[in-house]
Amino acid sequence: MNKEDFRRLGHDLIDWIADYFDHIDDLPVLAAIEPGDLKAKLPTRAPAQGESMEAIIADLDRLIVPALTHWSHPSFFAYFATSTSAPGIFGELLSAAFDNKAMLWRTSPASTELEEVVLDWLRQMMGLDPGMLGIIYDTASVSSLHAIAAARESVEMRVREEGMSGRPDLPLLRVYVSEQSHSSIEKAVITLGLGQRGLRKVPTDAQFRMDATALAGAVEEDKRNGCLPFCVVATVGTTSTSSIDPVPEIAPICEQHSLWLHVDAAYAGSASIVPELRHILAGCERADSLVTNPHKWLFTPFDLSVLYCRHMDLLKRAFSLVPEYLRTPEQEKVRSGSDYGIQLGRRFRALKLWMVMRYFGHEGLAARIREHCRLARLFASLVDESPDWELLAPVPLALVCFRATPEGMTDLDALNEAIMHSVNASGRALLSHTRLNDKLTLRLSIGNIRTTEQHVRQVWQLLNEEMRRMG
Ligand code: PLP
Repeated sequence: MNKEDFRRLGHDLIDWIADYFDHIDDLPVLAAIEPGDLKAKLPTRAPAQGESMEAIIADLDRLIVPALTHWSHPSFFAYFATSTSAPGIFGELLSAAFDNKAMLWRTSPASTELEEVVLDWLRQMMGLDPGMLGIIYDTASVSSLHAIAAARESVEMRVREEGMSGRPDLPLLRVYVSEQSHSSIEKAVITLGLGQRGLRKVPTDAQFRMDATALAGAVEEDKRNGCLPFCVVATVGTTSTSSIDPVPEIAPICEQHSLWLHVDAAYAGSASIVPELRHILAGCERADSLVTNPHKWLFTPFDLSVLYCRHMDLLKRAFSLVPEYLRTPEQEKVRSGSDYGIQLGRRFRALKLWMVMRYFGHEGLAARIREHCRLARLFASLVDESPDWELLAPVPLALVCFRATPEGMTDLDALNEAIMHSVNASGRALLSHTRLNDKLTLRLSIGNIRTTEQHVRQVWQLLNEEMRRMG
């Protein structure tokens, strides 16, 4: 592509994105298509000859946009609502232009060093201590996998050298999570060859927080039975309810039994940059590692997850493998990203986070998160004050768990599921659900930079309309 075309098309594309955000409120949040619809409209083979960008962009409108679920829509309240932002988009664009593979320091000194600096800024904003050094991965699932691999390395069982199979000398290694932990931890345990048997799920209290006494009992029982407990994963901001495990009570148990404490703060970690919410990380100064996802609630486009770890040496011991063709003269003096994970090449993700943090500033980011929490409290108060609805969990952050309970309705699970599907099918808002105490529970998560009080009031009205229509 010649530079004139690149310039012209680039400007057109930025205009296209600006218009997309301008009219995103009018698009259906959930893609209004049936499975297979898009595939049926696409050719089954790649074009033999190149096509014009104009034709490709026209297909973006015609084919791709109708098949999108619009995560950037201000009425996207499902899962954990997240959003990109203008500086984040620019960061992604530049990162694609540089196309650096930051596997070694010398293959991208900018990426390597900016990552260290930006993650130290974030660490300070979150109130974590300087002993926690950060590294970027794609997702929290991968960050936690690496943390558990480092934890396994800490038990000195030579798993790196000998593996885990065919070893009569190896006891059952155990990781502990609460029943409310994210499935990514179980997947990490499976991937690391520890097996689902290697994961013990500890019960939670009435507010969905890990029961620390039950944790201590489980560890002691496992030890008596010859298992080797080695890691506890506490969650700060669980997926179903955003409950916060009692890390100040969990940390001493880990210390007493020499267990690695990993904190999954994938969602809620960002909220700790708000001074009055910093308490959510109480006890995390005693953690060995902690994951937080700027791509969830720090207005950074997917993907960017940060693992903070107090023992980078163990992470490196678990993953570093330097073949001759990757040896460099400076390798003893610098950090090379590939030493700390399964990937060799790494994207230049720090760039977008740097741009987001500089553009908004700590106070700008905190103000937006604070506003999301206010909107969640507002929605929760509407639920609480209505005789037709009830809250099913506390609202410590920006997630509300609730359900309709109109008088005279018996099958509340069916009713709430129907309300949710009907709201989602309207295209005017998107909610998701979970199950709490065996009740189908609706979840409303606020995390989009464009969500205003008006959007929250609209979804409340919509929910009520649907409930009355069905009741
Ligand atoms: N941990 C928690 C608490 C989560 O809520 C999620 C996703 O919502 C994850 C981990 C997984 O995040 P990722 O998609 O970055 O792997």
